[in-house]
Amino acid sequence: MGREQDDMLRRGIGMTSQRTRERLIQRLYEEGISSARVLEVIRRTPRHLFVDEALAHRAYEDTALPIGNNQTISQPYMVARMSELLLEAGPLDKVLEIGTGSGYQTAVLSQLVERVFSVERIKVLQDRAKERLVELNLRNVVFRWGDGWEGWPALAPYNGIIVTAVATDVPQALLDQLAPGGRLVIPVGAGEVQQLMLIVREEQGFSRRVLGAVRFVPLLNGPLA
Ligand code: SAH
Repeated sequence: MGREQDDMLRRGIGMTSQRTRERLIQRLYEEGISSARVLEVIRRTPRHLFVDEALAHRAYEDTALPIGNNQTISQPYMVARMSELLLEAGPLDKVLEIGTGSGYQTAVLSQLVERVFSVERIKVLQDRAKERLVELNLRNVVFRWGDGWEGWPALAPYNGIIVTAVATDVPQALLDQLAPGGRLVIPVGAGEVQQLMLIVREEQGFSRRVLGAVRFVPLLNGPLA
């Protein structure tokens, strides 16, 4: 791609025009995303920089897209919905994200909360995500290459935890790392049957809300070079 074309992409002209982006925001609103803050952050986050150039023209469709290594960038609606659920009870200071992937959800979150701690098991994806966030000057994120089933115990507790891959069960480590009042948003299930859940650490025990059927790639085991 030529320099000029590259500049145009970055400024969001052409296939990634402001109008295309506005259409996505309108659609998310119609699908029930009501947080003005979340919609505004999605409006200004250049999703086309989080996918391969060959897919950039589809970046503002409300759909998951491949990012290599058998993984996908999350669907904008899901990113919006999960962010909204995390923030529903008020502002959040420390948020742990499991499954950095392209870094798109990370970038959105980093503009909504004080600090993001993001764990990814695939090193190459993590490296690319890191570069993108630096490029966008989003500096309140730290990354860890590791196994999300274990969370990130050294920096716990967290006010919010978001998992962007589907777990067969809710990982015990993540429950343990939730601060009092902390919120965990996680898809749970196997194969085709997956439910988005919101789990809140109450004074005694946990409350659980099932929010409906979703479709995510699986939360796997162990880090991968
Ligand atoms: N929110 C990301 C979605 C990426 S898909 C985005 O918008 O781009 C889910 C990610 O979870 C993948 O990158 C996958 O490698 C990662 N993942 C799967 N199992 C994991 C585990 N046990 N620990 C950390 N990351 C994991």
